[in-house]
Amino acid sequence: MTTTFDIPKTSRAAVLTKHSEPLEIREIPVPQTLEPGALLVRIEAATVCGSDLHLWDGSLGGSQALDLPVIPGHEMVGKVIAFGDGAERDTFGTPLEIGDRICFTHASCNQCDHCRFDNQPTLCTNRQYYMFTNCERPPYLVGGFAEYAYVFPNSGRVRVPDEVETSWASAASCALRTVVHSFERIGKMNPWETVVIQGAGPLGLFATALADHLGAGRIITIGAPDNRLAIAKQYGATDLVSVAEHPEPEDRITAVRDLLGGHGAEVVFEFSGARTAFTEGLGMIKEGGRYMVTGQIDGPGKEVPVRPGFITRQQLTIMGTWSGHIAEYRKALEFMKNTHGKYDFGALVPNRYRLDQATEALTRMRAQEDIKPMLVPHGTEGI
Ligand SMILES: [Zn+2]
Ligand SMILES: [Zn+2]
Repeated sequence: MTTTFDIPKTSRAAVLTKHSEPLEIREIPVPQTLEPGALLVRIEAATVCGSDLHLWDGSLGGSQALDLPVIPGHEMVGKVIAFGDGAERDTFGTPLEIGDRICFTHASCNQCDHCRFDNQPTLCTNRQYYMFTNCERPPYLVGGFAEYAYVFPNSGRVRVPDEVETSWASAASCALRTVVHSFERIGKMNPWETVVIQGAGPLGLFATALADHLGAGRIITIGAPDNRLAIAKQYGATDLVSVAEHPEPEDRITAVRDLLGGHGAEVVFEFSGARTAFTEGLGMIKEGGRYMVTGQIDGPGKEVPVRPGFITRQQLTIMGTWSGHIAEYRKALEFMKNTHGKYDFGALVPNRYRLDQATEALTRMRAQEDIKPMLVPHGTEGI
């Protein structure tokens, strides 16, 4: 049996039918019955991720198939409006009620080796992805840029704490959870160590705050434009390196090493997504240091030159992080709950857009005129 509460017949959605073309507003059917474990949610906010830009222009790499037309968006907060059987609790056992806000994950299968053996469910070989799945077949509502969304039975879901604003929670549900996952993988940071953060977009800024809260001794955030560097400062960066003032990678390496008396940093995070960032970051690491590569999502044909002997001789640890699973979503939300008086998370999501402004939101983000646009399909009330 499915518990239903005023399920609408259709939902407006901003649909990607052709790469780099304006998104098309369509009326999409709303599933009237839910599979066991599924939920139906009303999208309160859907923030735009860098991956949405790459999805839009067709440059997104990865193993997952893209089946157009799709509804972009995988970073969102929904209010529960209907339960499938057995879905009345979140992944952690917290009871869910109609109207509760949740964040939810892509769906890992819980059966493949990555899910069951390696404990790395973001590598699941059968993962159901929002925004890659065709929206003309059931369950139709498989992306964030819509009035309603279908939560897959295998999607992790977590109730958003009351202290966390909807706009922050939306930004947490890809950007911050990915940063949390990166920090978990790279390991401990100490008060006597320096952290370099490449990129002052949402991931780089969240990482700056997290490194600050964890007690890293020195935090050097690299990016542009200046208003983002100002947020980095507010989030705890001890030093800033402006890409506008240092347009060449070699200049930025020199700027970082000048700050550190000629040395490199113990930990470097790559969150910029820039083509040259990986080789550049290698130049900023101290011998024996650690490098986390999280921002690089380009596909084949985007290779860069690397001298492997440098990694050997410097005894570097280099790792990657892809996406996040439900535990990282919850940790991201708990971090926001505990630190919202310390960091102004609202600074990352200053602007709201209607669904029919989705193309404008993408365009402005690509032009760096907006840091993280937020779609509000039902208006701004309560957001
Ligand atoms: Zn994302
Ligand atoms: Zn799996």
